[in-house]
Amino acid sequence: MVHRDYTGFVERLVSLRSSNTRIETVGVVDDYPIHRVSLEADQGVHKNVLIAAGIHGDEPAGPASVLRFLERDNTHLLQRFKFLILPCINPYGYVHNTRENKRGVDLNRSFEETGIAEIDIVKGTIDGQRFDFCIDFHEDWEAKGVYFYEARRNKRWIGPEITRQIEKIGQIDGEMGESDLLIADGVFQVDPAWGDIGFAPYIFRFNADHVMTCETPTNWTLDQRIAAHLTALDTALEILG
Ligand SMILES: [Zn+2]
Repeated sequence: MVHRDYTGFVERLVSLRSSNTRIETVGVVDDYPIHRVSLEADQGVHKNVLIAAGIHGDEPAGPASVLRFLERDNTHLLQRFKFLILPCINPYGYVHNTRENKRGVDLNRSFEETGIAEIDIVKGTIDGQRFDFCIDFHEDWEAKGVYFYEARRNKRWIGPEITRQIEKIGQIDGEMGESDLLIADGVFQVDPAWGDIGFAPYIFRFNADHVMTCETPTNWTLDQRIAAHLTALDTALEILG
């Protein structure tokens, strides 16, 4: 069983030096702290962006991408955007390399429920806030390339442009599941039939006008998965900004 180093992950988070970055512990579950990070500059009019990662503990590229994002210089983005970041929603799963939390709950299928500690913390953290855009970083063990789920009320579909940028890094996986609603090659719609059980549909219903779930293939190197996640984020911001 993999025991991933969450303490080291948290140490890198809290050692972020940027004056625009604020880190808060928003809860503790099974002795593991859950954090939110605010990244914003004082001046200007900002679009509000939510970044989430690590809801599935066996998909470490998400938290790693968040760290890479926070450790780079984002000064140019802070003129147009402010960010709220949930770097690792399921720390128990992250440490033990399990999709589910300690109680065997798939958090990304349980947002309709109450009384699940990690989910209550996430809901409490974002309650009453509106986001112009939300991206949720995942991995897929079976995928041959990157693919996306997207839902929007505003603007236009941005997945197709993102996949064109991703193709510079690696391939897109356009394989469709039985119930997938196609927007473009490798871009599928967040299906209204899912209800609110997942993070993305929940956020789309209550907190955001545009959401994306970014799935990267686990068989890529970690650096390649991180590059794909950050390319998706940067391309989305380019289009939305
Ligand atoms: Zn996942």
